Amino acid sequence: MPELPEVEIMARNLDRWLRGGVVEELVIGDEKLRPADDETLLRLSGQRVHRAWRRAKYALVELDRDTLVLHFRMTGKVVVRAPDRPARATIRARGPYAADDQARADDQARADEQAKAGGQGHTEDSARADERPGGADRAHGGRGRPGGLLREVHFVDPRRFGTLDIVANGDVEAYLGALGCGPEPWPERHDGAWWRARLAGLRGPIKPALMRQERVAGIGNILASETLWRARVHPARGGGELGDAEWSAIAEAFPALIDDVIARESGDELRYVNDGHDPLDAGFAVYGRAGQPALCCGADVQRMVQATRSTFFCPRCQR
Ligand SMILES: [Zn+2]
Repeated sequence: MPELPEVEIMARNLDRWLRGGVVEELVIGDEKLRPADDETLLRLSGQRVHRAWRRAKYALVELDRDTLVLHFRMTGKVVVRAPDRPARATIRARGPYAADDQARADDQARADEQAKAGGQGHTEDSARADERPGGADRAHGGRGRPGGLLREVHFVDPRRFGTLDIVANGDVEAYLGALGCGPEPWPERHDGAWWRARLAGLRGPIKPALMRQERVAGIGNILASETLWRARVHPARGGGELGDAEWSAIAEAFPALIDDVIARESGDELRYVNDGHDPLDAGFAVYGRAGQPALCCGADVQRMVQATRSTFFCPRCQR
């Protein structure tokens, strides 16, 4: 499941792939995803892409008049793939995109085809058939064509829980507010007093409190466990009983964790921990590692359930 760092990376990728281009169309390949009627979708055509950015766990693509809001949920991703691949949605934009970037995207598409041929298992809805002659634009490199290279960004999502909304630019803040997005904990640095003010008043243990989106945006289950491990705070402690030093430790631990995860994961295609790779490969110290020696002291990492979610911690170092 993507958390704040993965969404940040996907937003940066969207920005790199699409900024400066003009939307040709938004193709909906999965009716469950359909964000609007045909008329609204048509309105997107011809709008320029100003930027893509992240807010909480949402990636936003800002056009002239409208913003596409993507929420990835369990398995959603944005990728650049060959034009005729099925996707829940495809953003097609033409712009002054760098040819080497395109070559990289084509390489990714080829690698993806090979992985697919290797038998990944799940069958994607292949209802959409693109009638445009495949690859013609790329074969000519797009040079000299009005509008530049065509770029197709696919929203893929095997479990189909992800969402896509179209929001008028002037309504984006209200839209995000209605979703209950609290203030951003990154890249801004906040001090311990800020974290205390946001969270200390909540009843119950600190770990689920960290995940209250209306208090602090974007902290998911993995990041909450890892933050408390770095801060050496026991996840069952009540927020109200933490001291200044502990709030300061959380204030330092969280942004440092995000910096580390982003530095490790940056790339065109992300793998999530729940894709089945070792959490240690993903750089996590305690998450998903119950029974294994903790990186801090070698004690066995313990798991407990808080508010129906798994929490991982070192019983020796976190107090
Ligand atoms: Zn330890």
